[in-house]
Order: sequence, then structure tokens, then C-alpha cells
Amino acid sequence: MSHVQLWRHRAPQESLYLWLFLWLMVPSVVGQQPNVPPLRIIAIFAHPDDGEAKMGGAAAMWAASGHHVKFVSLTNGDAGHHEMGGGPLASRRRMEAQEAARRLGIEAYTVLDYPDAQLVPTLEARHDVIREIRAWQADIVIGLRNNDYHPDHRNAGQLVMDAAYLVVVPNVVTDVPPLAQNPVFLYMQDGFQRPYPFQHDIVVDVTAHLDQKVDALDAHASQFYEWLPWVDGNLQDIPASAQARRAYLDERWRSRTLSASQRAALERLYGSDTAQAVVHAESFEIAEYGRRPSQQLINQLLGR
Ligand SMILES: [Zn+2]
Repeated sequence: MSHVQLWRHRAPQESLYLWLFLWLMVPSVVGQQPNVPPLRIIAIFAHPDDGEAKMGGAAAMWAASGHHVKFVSLTNGDAGHHEMGGGPLASRRRMEAQEAARRLGIEAYTVLDYPDAQLVPTLEARHDVIREIRAWQADIVIGLRNNDYHPDHRNAGQLVMDAAYLVVVPNVVTDVPPLAQNPVFLYMQDGFQRPYPFQHDIVVDVTAHLDQKVDALDAHASQFYEWLPWVDGNLQDIPASAQARRAYLDERWRSRTLSASQRAALERLYGSDTAQAVVHAESFEIAEYGRRPSQQLINQLLGR
């Protein structure tokens, strides 16, 4: 076959690839599937930094894709330190949360004022959760499972599940209009095994957003450079300079590997070739309460 013939034979195929490439790229450049409205996502948890640690990469990816993302911490975090506490710690943590939101690119981050380490599933707190979900007009609500080492995490998880369904009931919390349809409820990832291990239903590739996640964690200096190292007994390992601290945090998070079950879920969702390229991922379990997610919604969350 001559060179000219080769070119002639390959041209239609190459042009097909070009069109396929453009067809695949245009929606990802725009950040969303065409004619599909962006999602309204709210994550509700116990402490300022829970959302960043468990799903900061996914939040950054969703925000960059044009979805509307809000974080809500139910407590003000005023017990999370060994040298300070109360109002001064709460105000410091509010500022850290706002900076984390800025670094993730999410639209809003509300820190409610329930005292840290004292969160219980009261009616007042349940109604606040219902107000937050309704006011955000949420399509997706992400909470914690209510089996966890920390009572605030358990109770925050309980409060979100208690709001599932009630967000559509007009006679409950009459000062904010009910949602027209029940959102999809998801759980953030955890490693607890009882009563059953976490299910990796939706696994988001966050490899490209790990830097942003570490930046968001870095914003919580009171936690990642002071309180948590003190609890873990390695406060002496924290470097002094801001740059060295950031590098220390980055190394710790970057060295985390995917579990076998997470890897298997990635292969199921993305196919083995694409899954192999994933280095960092964040998983979500679909709660039994709330609406069932459509395949389109799952694809939006996966970023495709
Ligand atoms: Zn927490």
C-alpha cells in the first residue's frame, strides 16, 4: 500500500476518532452533561473538617464541574483542642472552615452552633437539618453512617437519616417550604465493620483533586497540625514552617492506598483500564432511605 493510499484509508477513521474525541470532551469541558441541570449537593456532618477529610476531593471535583455544593457542620468544634476551647476555638474553626470552602471551590459552608462533643439527636437539631436540606433545595444529601467511634458522628448520621422523608412533609418545619421530591441520601466512607462494612456503591476518582483536598485540610491548622497530632502523640513530628507542614500533610494523605473492595468497585464502575489509572478515590454508599439514584445522577457524580 502506497503512502497516499494509506493516508486515504486512514483518514475516515481518524476523522471518526476526532469527532468521537470532541463529542466526549465538550461536555467535560463544560463540566456537565448537555441539557442536564447541575446537581444541588449538601453534605451534613458533625465537625468542621469531617467533610473535607472524607469527601473533600469529590466536593472539589463536583464544584469544578458546576454542581452546587454546600457543607454543614452541626457542631462548632469548640472541644477539638488541647490548649484552647469554647468561643475562641469555635471562632477559629469557623474561619478555618470558610478558608477550606474557598480552597475547595464550594459555594457555602455553614457551621451551626451545637457544642462539640455534646451533639444529640434532638428535635431541635433534626429540624435544623431539615431546614438546611430544604433551603439548599438538595438533590443529594450526604451524611455519616451512625456506627462510628465518635458520638457526634453517630448522632450527626442519625439526624440526617431522621430528616430523610420528613423533608417532603409540609406539616413538619412549617417555616421552610417542603421539597417537591425526596433527595437521594448517601453515606460518606468509613472503615467500621459492624454491623456491616461500608458499601462502595459510588466511587469517585479524586486523583486530580487531591491537591485541593490537602489544601482544604491544611486550612484546618488547629486540627491537622495541633489537635490531632497531640491526640496521636506525634505533635513533635509537625514541622514549624507553613510550607513544610503542607508537605508533611500531603505525604500522609498521598500515601493512602485504595482498599481491595474500593479497587473492585472502581473496576465495576469505570472498567478495568480506566480504574487502573485511579490513585485516589472517595466512596459513597447509597442509603436505603430517600429516593433511588438514576444512572444519570450516578454518572454526574462520577464526573462522566
Ligand atoms: Zn469529626
